Amino acid sequence: MTDKILVVDDDTAILSVVSDALEHKYEVFTAESVSDAEEIIKDHKIKLLIADLVMPGKNGIDMIMEFRKSYPDMRIMAISGGGGLSGRFDYLPIAKLIGARITLKKPFTLAELRNSADELLQENTEK
Ligand SMILES: [Mg+2]
Repeated sequence: MTDKILVVDDDTAILSVVSDALEHKYEVFTAESVSDAEEIIKDHKIKLLIADLVMPGKNGIDMIMEFRKSYPDMRIMAISGGGGLSGRFDYLPIAKLIGARITLKKPFTLAELRNSADELLQENTEK
């Protein structure tokens, strides 16, 4: 069965780029907000979450912590250009601490994105 990926980013351009890069191989769902993501994740068995970190409303860090509790087997990749109002604060190390196995700093290449998704989806679910 095709693995399902959910990409969450408030930037719709990023959603298109990421889904274009991955949909030849995986079933890709996209959400512009955490509340949209919460709806999608209830109805589909998502194996990989690709999460932006800085979003209006609920942010990616809170989302990752919440989803880790409900879906402990889901793999997580965080994507961020750094955050905060100045854009200088880097949230990626925090994402790693709370369970993102791979973090990609924007802008990343499509090859980096594909390789990271392949790597996370080939991993055994066994701990
Ligand atoms: Mg964002």
